[in-house]
Amino acid sequence: MRVWIDQDLCTGDGLCVDHCPDVFVQLEDGIAYVAESGQTLNDPGGSGSLAWVTDRHVGDVIHAAELCPGECIFIEIEADASGADDVLDAVDLVDLVDDAAA
Ligand code: SF4
Repeated sequence: MRVWIDQDLCTGDGLCVDHCPDVFVQLEDGIAYVAESGQTLNDPGGSGSLAWVTDRHVGDVIHAAELCPGECIFIEIEADASGADDVLDAVDLVDLVDDAAA
């Protein structure tokens, strides 16, 4: 699973950082970015801004995306057999959380 943020929509409230500081960081501009292996990926809109999420952070990242007031945290799951990635919306996220809890 990978995650990225649309910085144009970020309100800078920092809720994502509160939920998962290993994956979300807030820089001096007040906007949130994703991080991978401790390195902030600050290439807004670029492919370099997609961070892989480790298994232990999946739940926290999903909850952060659900609660994000800017609705600007996007989660992508690995490419399927056709090679296409799935971008999850809020309904998909709820299903994913339900599946994880089952
Ligand atoms: S929760 Fe959403 S709006 Fe708030 S800082 Fe994080 S990405 Fe930005």
